[in-house]
Amino acid sequence: MKIIFLDIDGVLNDRQHIISVRKSGFGRAETQAQRLATLDETAEACGYEWERMIASECVGQLNRITQMTKAKIVISSSWRYFLSKDELEDVLKRAGVETLIVGVISKTCPTRVDAIREWLKEHEVEAFVILDDEWKWTGLDSMRDDLVLTSFEGGGLTKDLANEAMKRLS
Ligand SMILES: [Mg+2]
Repeated sequence: MKIIFLDIDGVLNDRQHIISVRKSGFGRAETQAQRLATLDETAEACGYEWERMIASECVGQLNRITQMTKAKIVISSSWRYFLSKDELEDVLKRAGVETLIVGVISKTCPTRVDAIREWLKEHEVEAFVILDDEWKWTGLDSMRDDLVLTSFEGGGLTKDLANEAMKRLS
C-alpha cells in the first residue's frame, strides 16, 4: 500500500482561502494550543462546516496524485483532535477528495513525527510521502527526505508540489 500522510491546513487550504471564509486572519497562533484554539474558532466561523475550510484547487491536486499512484490517505492533521476518522472521511468526501482514508495517526505521541513513525512501524507500507506545511514544531525536519513541504502562504498543495509527491510515491 502506498500512503500519503496528509496534513490539512496549509496543504488543502492556504491563507487566501481561510481569509475568504474568515475575515480576521489565521496564523497569529504561536503554540500548538493556540493553533488548536484558532482552528476551532475558524471552524466555528464556518458554522462547523469543516469542508468550507478546504480549497477545491488543492483537492484537485491531491486527487491527481491518488489517481496516478493509487495511494491511500492517513490523516496527520491537527483536525484529528476535533473530528473522528469517520467525520474526517465525510468532511474530505464533501470537499471532493476521492480516495479512501485508511487511518489517522496517534493523538498521544509527543510530536507529529513520532506519531507518523509509530504508524509506519505498525503497518506495511510500500512507499509513502508526507504532505505538510510545518516542519519545525511537528519534528518533521527529521524526515525531510520524505516530506513535501507545502506553504500556507503560497497556495498549499500546488501543481509542482503534487508532481514532486507523485515522484516520491512511484
Ligand atoms: Mg498544516
